[in-house]
Amino acid sequence: MKNKILVTGGVGYIGSHTCIELINAGFDIVVYDNLSNSSIEALHRVESIVGQSIEFIEGDILDYSLLDHVFKTYEFFAVIHFAGLKAVGESVAKPLLYYKNNVTGTLNLLEVMQRYSVKNFVFSSSATVYGDPETLPIVETAPRSCTNPYGQSKLTVEYILEDLAQSDPTWNIVSLRYFNPVGAHKSGLIGEDPNDIPNNLMPYISQVAVGKLKQLSIFGNDYDTVDGTGVRDFIHVVDLANGHVAALDYLVNHQAIGFLPINLGTGKGTSVLELVHAFIESTGVDVPYQFVDRRPGDVASCYASAAFAKELLNWSADLNIVDMCRDTWQWQSKNPKGYTSESFS
Ligand code: NAD
Ligand code: UDP
Repeated sequence: MKNKILVTGGVGYIGSHTCIELINAGFDIVVYDNLSNSSIEALHRVESIVGQSIEFIEGDILDYSLLDHVFKTYEFFAVIHFAGLKAVGESVAKPLLYYKNNVTGTLNLLEVMQRYSVKNFVFSSSATVYGDPETLPIVETAPRSCTNPYGQSKLTVEYILEDLAQSDPTWNIVSLRYFNPVGAHKSGLIGEDPNDIPNNLMPYISQVAVGKLKQLSIFGNDYDTVDGTGVRDFIHVVDLANGHVAALDYLVNHQAIGFLPINLGTGKGTSVLELVHAFIESTGVDVPYQFVDRRPGDVASCYASAAFAKELLNWSADLNIVDMCRDTWQWQSKNPKGYTSESFS
């Protein structure tokens, strides 16, 4: 059977959306998460969307003996590894926490996988591994570099995965480099629920729109871009989730693939100002903003070449910026306090 999948970090933002698409595609999943950055309510809502219960293990990827027990209990075909810490600013303040969680945690997981001969692996990497890109759109063979501990932890794991695949051709590793995931499931039941004040643009916009935050600060309007604001490749989280299903389908049908990095983006750049205006127009809700200085470490433009994902996985993004704004707003307006909001009916 090639359908039992371990999903680490499956209660989080991208993981929860991916669980839905995996179940819809007929995969049988076990979710492993320590709930350090998520609420179990997200998984309950996923269960209500798919109409079935999901096996859940509350555990840490740093806990080798629990992982060992899990692999002894279940016979997995593959692991999708979302579990990790992701806040760039926090990683600068707490580098040891980030390296331990993201690098040591992944090493633990890989060791247990090796022990049980489970060698199909899908890793949550990031466009951050491209640093300040020399050419656009960014292709998978572009040079890699990082400037903060979060990015370094992703890049380090990619190097480890490359070495592992090189050492043992029976490993099959897909490293999915996400561009900028935004949006929410169309039900409005699940979405992104940051713990503190959001660092990322879309949750900041939606929290201003719902009245939780006063106004958006746009970091820089003097970049060499269409309107001076930063350009990113925003991708709907449901499209991203389907990219994982496509990667698993690929693993089901191909072996001895080594280490395969694949961009998950739309291939289209959108400026910060364009996104803000798209949000206002598609929701009818105002988002007051002001221009402030550039944020240190930000690059002017970053968008994917989506050609390799299309060629190899036959996957491409379907949803556009208006879908992303509409679905974000549906989630945010129905759950103004995220998963701690009153039960959603
Ligand atoms: P998230 O924080 O919502 O989800 C991560 C999940 O992992 C959470 O449920 C958290 O509780 C869990 N987790 C963290 N450390 C763990 C540990 N030691 N053991 C077990 N569980 C642990 O983040 P997300 O946005 O869903 O991101 C998922 C993955 O994708 C992360 O690895 C992240 O770095 C990567 N990624 C995210 C983005 C983005 O913009 N959201 C972009 C590129 C890459
Ligand atoms: N951004 C902004 N205000 C915010 C958050 C982000 O102007 O409050 C800009 C940021 O400078 C960048 C873009 O929005 O140009 C995307 O930022 P985000 O942090 O969401 O993603 P990343 O920088 O990791 O691509």
